[in-house]
Amino acid sequence: MYINDDISTLKGVGPKTKELLNKCGIYTILDFLLYFPRDYEQRVYCSDIGKIIENKKIIVKAIVQEIKRDIPVKKNMVISTVVFKSGNSTFEGKWFNQTYMKNKFRLNGEYILSGNLELQKNKKVLINPIIVDGKSTISSINPKYSLSGSLTNSFFIKTLSNVLSNIKIAENLPKEILKKYNLCSLDEAIRNIHNPERGQSLKEAIKRLKFQELFTYSLKLLMLKKYSFNKGINFSIAPELKLLKEKLPFPLTSAQNRVIREILLDEKKDKPMNRLVQGDVGSGKTIIAFIALFNVIKNGYQGVLMAPTEILANQHYEEAKKIFKEFNLNIQLLCGSTTNKNKKIIKEDLKLGEIDIIIGTHALLEEDVEFYNLGMVVTDEQHRFGVRQRTTLYHKNNNIDVLVMSATPIPRTLALSIYGDLEISTIDELPPGRKKVDTFCIDKKQKKRVYNFALKEIQNGTQVYIVCPLVEENEDMKVTSVERLYQELKESYFKNIDIEILHGKMASKLKDEVMEKFKNGQIKVLISTTVIEVGVNVPNATLMIIENAERFGLSQLHQLRGRVGRGSKKSYCILVSDLKSEVSKKRMEIMTSSNDGFFIAEEDLKLRGSGEIFGVNQHGDDGLIIANLVEDFNLFKYANQEAKLLINSDRKEDIIIKNEILENLQKTSKYICFN
Ligand code: ADP
Ligand code: MG
Repeated sequence: MYINDDISTLKGVGPKTKELLNKCGIYTILDFLLYFPRDYEQRVYCSDIGKIIENKKIIVKAIVQEIKRDIPVKKNMVISTVVFKSGNSTFEGKWFNQTYMKNKFRLNGEYILSGNLELQKNKKVLINPIIVDGKSTISSINPKYSLSGSLTNSFFIKTLSNVLSNIKIAENLPKEILKKYNLCSLDEAIRNIHNPERGQSLKEAIKRLKFQELFTYSLKLLMLKKYSFNKGINFSIAPELKLLKEKLPFPLTSAQNRVIREILLDEKKDKPMNRLVQGDVGSGKTIIAFIALFNVIKNGYQGVLMAPTEILANQHYEEAKKIFKEFNLNIQLLCGSTTNKNKKIIKEDLKLGEIDIIIGTHALLEEDVEFYNLGMVVTDEQHRFGVRQRTTLYHKNNNIDVLVMSATPIPRTLALSIYGDLEISTIDELPPGRKKVDTFCIDKKQKKRVYNFALKEIQNGTQVYIVCPLVEENEDMKVTSVERLYQELKESYFKNIDIEILHGKMASKLKDEVMEKFKNGQIKVLISTTVIEVGVNVPNATLMIIENAERFGLSQLHQLRGRVGRGSKKSYCILVSDLKSEVSKKRMEIMTSSNDGFFIAEEDLKLRGSGEIFGVNQHGDDGLIIANLVEDFNLFKYANQEAKLLINSDRKEDIIIKNEILENLQKTSKYICFN
């Protein structure tokens, strides 16, 4: 068995299981090993059941005293009961519709059982217990995996245990580092994270794996920084800039002017620009990108503007055509949905230098997108992309200027270590005339009032967004889905209203059509997922309703709220949420009391860690699966220090180690790869 073998080579993995595993991102044995539990369940080993005074998950050694007769209850239910003795007390094992279970026991036999112990009136009952073998009694911590379809948790436990007993995982960090920080081996860490024997071994496994992620993350950043030692392009300040500014439909704010100055200074330098522009939702970042690109074009180079969604790319494209109407530029749009024929033409023209500005999505990262002379890449909504994607474009031409824009403000100290390779510009001012979006948080029970309010808004000629966390129904009935809400509202409150849905699973063409109709007012209510989160601009929309608001990060909520309040009319944001926990209460309070993206980001950080802010998740492009830059900041500092030592060392043996590490890290860190 090898770590790169396909999972279908495993016993018990047929075509159907394979498909389900693929859905979880598991293709090879290595992927399987890197599919860490999402949580653990602690079972307490109990030697005397008499001492237990509350309901608990337990493991217990017990002797069979009596096997009772099955009792049918209700229509479809049979209860089987076995009476056990443990220490000086007795308890009942009860199974629901598992009559075969009682056959596994013989009178006076001794068994080790695991299950939920419930304290009932006069007795203790172990519900649906399973027999565990002697070995598992030591392991009282059970992993719980995120499941898909019909896959069960015990399938994961069983199959992984089979894999682990047939495989040895090679080390990928230098011995000295392991020793210095007291880290266990990779093999041990992966074994223990799936099958921790004691709390301590789990802690050690997590520490080791976190260190590895943070070390790789640091290496990546440092590699990026190395590129900036390249000589850049020495752009001059184009005289046409003045004319462009005069032709803009509005005067720039002083913050916008300052940031543009900072960018133009970078463009003049012979070092490649590497700058992050952060500014709150609606602070006017797009125009800054256009001006930065314009100067590059006027120097005879090509420019790229990349957006995370087609909707946004489309919008930028339309906007660019307007802004540059009188400047005779060739601007094109390249997205996944662009027809093959057009893609081909665009790619050829790009290569020939016919196109000045290309706007698009990830499609721009395809290998066969080549440029005649690329000068600058602007990435909008940076947090949606990973380091990997940034580097991909670097490689198209590694002395180009890079500008990234983000509406998710990051506290400066954190930004410096996370985007160690970037300079930062901040737009700390909104264009004049913006009105505060009034925000309210309501209970699900008050939804009726909200929809009535929405109707009133529509009668006044404005439009409404409703955002749901899910596209379609899943097993979690508590969460509202786009499709269910659409059905519901179309038949009730919004019977005679033009209402449509929009989500990522729809075909691009359809998405564009819906968006276009919403923009020109044909559609009054748009029910969508967070695809509309970033950058979409419909000034006539005045009401944003967010269902299950507790499901979103604060920065995300702020982004969503930023879709309204873009015109002259008073706008509202209503967060629908059943406030259960203290934390959700606090979070909603922050949203209703503040409209300041920076403040919200900082509070978000305090409450949730950095995970949500940067869009880093299980499959985050930044390779941080279990490590968290905020919570593990101390470990990050050490990992960063070691990565620096390694990167900067020119000793022959270090170079060998470096290459080896890069190679091994690439192999054993699925999401941690270099380009
Ligand atoms: P974001 O920073 O969220 O990307 P946009 O660039 O989409 O914001 O700008 C939001 C809206 O504000 C757009 O309609 C844009 O035309 C407008 N805008 C940008 N700058 C100014 C300004 N200085 N004065 C007035 N309106 C502006
Ligand atoms: Mg924007």
